[in-house]
Amino acid sequence: MTLKGARERWVRTGGIELCVAELGDPEQPTVVLVHGYPDSKEVWSEVAVRLADRFHVVLYDVRGHGRSSAPKPLRGGFTLAKLTDDFLAVVDAVSPDRPVHLVGHDWGSVQSWEFATTGRTEGRIASFTSMSGPSLDHFGHWINARVKRPTPRRVGQLLGQGAKSWYVYMLHTPVLPELAWRGPLGKRWPKILQRIEKVPAGDYPTPSLPTDAAHGAWLYRDNVRVRLLHPRPDAHAHAPVQLITPEGDAFLSERLYDDLEQWVPRLTRRTIPAKHWVPRTRPDQLADWIEEFVTTVEGGRTEVKATGRHAERFGGQLVLVTGAGSGIGRATAFAFAEAGARVVAVDRDAEAATRTAELARLVGAAGAWAETADVSDEQAMEKLAEKVHRDHGVVDVLVNNAGIGLSGSFFTTTTEDWRTVLDVNLWGVIHGCRLFGARMAERGQGGHIVNIASAAAYQPSRALPAYSTSKAAVLMLSECLRAELASQDIGVTAVCPGFVNTNITSTARFTGVDEEEARRRQKRSAHLYGLRNYPPEKVADAILDAVVRNVAVAPVTPEARGAHFMSRYMPGALRRIARVEPRL
Ligand code: NAD
Repeated sequence: MTLKGARERWVRTGGIELCVAELGDPEQPTVVLVHGYPDSKEVWSEVAVRLADRFHVVLYDVRGHGRSSAPKPLRGGFTLAKLTDDFLAVVDAVSPDRPVHLVGHDWGSVQSWEFATTGRTEGRIASFTSMSGPSLDHFGHWINARVKRPTPRRVGQLLGQGAKSWYVYMLHTPVLPELAWRGPLGKRWPKILQRIEKVPAGDYPTPSLPTDAAHGAWLYRDNVRVRLLHPRPDAHAHAPVQLITPEGDAFLSERLYDDLEQWVPRLTRRTIPAKHWVPRTRPDQLADWIEEFVTTVEGGRTEVKATGRHAERFGGQLVLVTGAGSGIGRATAFAFAEAGARVVAVDRDAEAATRTAELARLVGAAGAWAETADVSDEQAMEKLAEKVHRDHGVVDVLVNNAGIGLSGSFFTTTTEDWRTVLDVNLWGVIHGCRLFGARMAERGQGGHIVNIASAAAYQPSRALPAYSTSKAAVLMLSECLRAELASQDIGVTAVCPGFVNTNITSTARFTGVDEEEARRRQKRSAHLYGLRNYPPEKVADAILDAVVRNVAVAPVTPEARGAHFMSRYMPGALRRIARVEPRL
């Protein structure tokens, strides 16, 4: 199978012929993508095409895989030393004068760790992006440290990783793995990947899978035991490393990388809510991170630009915020931007959304786009969801924030007033959850939905019947959806702020009073919110924290927390307060 649009060449080394594919302009920095087990270079096809307009992209079939020839005999033909010979031969052929940016997944990452830490390749590697494949040396030291100085936590970590490594033991048994891969397992593998790993169906895996898997078993047999028992003491990386850790990796524990700083002086960490096969399930995100890292290193820096407190957690993720043109929505868009996320700022006010996107780029967003939509308009939301999906992929974090205020007693609130408030505050959230949540669930790689409710959701008030009802509904909707989506690793959080100093006071409407009185009340409430002066940036911070900790309900501001406490333990007192008529 050939990679679409790729130029192919053969590189000979130590009696092996390696099939090498190239895309993009050879004058640009070279990115070498190394595949894992049981794969061939095609596992990278989606990432490669995304990188090809910026870089010279090189992929090769590891010996014994895809269309590269296999060593004879197989035993002893897959040692890390031989794999390093292959890598150097490829690099000499495709980029003789400039060091390359190395990217490895699974066993591609395991062997790339060898390339990035052995003296033979010094000066040939500009950077290394690793995903789902540790250095066997680091792994060996990690085990030793836990065996020599056991604590209950460390023993737990050992057992946890031991359980995840069941397939490694299997692959060490003779003949059986080969029979399985050439028989039933090989046939079923594409379906297993689709069902368990949510890898989209298509031209991957390739027909060479059974042979790749049978040959590749020697990667384990030739290296794992030897290196884990005798890890090299000096396996320090001589290039900056970007480590991408999928949170839902069935084969590797995140704890494996706890001690990595001691081996890698210039380390950038990223986590991604995904399972093991990220090159197939998250090509957009990976291409973004690789591009950012390579560009940063080429520019003479080793730190990626996102500096926010949660850069590791949200860097590169796709975050969509509604009502992002002002107040809490804008501050939230900025907070995710500072963490290096890709941000879609949605507002019915086109100019305000555009401004948010511009500023988001300035504060560190990996990308920021403005979209105009009225969240209460189902068709507009459908179009928005289709466009975002087509242009940027599946949203990782959705923040349903757009909302409007309405104040006035029940009998002065007309049915039209009710409709307006419920259309935006409740239906806007329902549309967002349905359209973006469905795609998140379908992708099967987790995600998070944040719905901005309010302390008014649990604090009754005679002055805000429509607003409070809409927010109570948002709170319950969030709880129900949280229960439904828990099994799919999608968190749902209802954020309940108290009084926050935003524009909402100047746009909120007052019922049952004439225009002049309404204006007076608006001014008065704006003044009071100004005196309270709780900044929307603090709410934004609380939102990111709530996502990281996956909390169900997040009251923000002391009064919101106080009211939350009272609603649980002293509801009678809260009801009495609700009777007080606010004097505006
Ligand atoms: P804000 O008025 O400063 O910002 C709201 C943004 O939403 C504006 O840019 C507006 O254009 C946009 N918007 C309004 N209706 C829209 C619609 N139908 N479609 C698309 N965009 C729309 O208000 P804020 O205080 O930042 O409020 C944000 C959210 O926080 C709201 O849901 C609000 O109910 C909630 N909230 C605010 C406070 C507070 O004290 N400010 C307290 C609790 C909850």
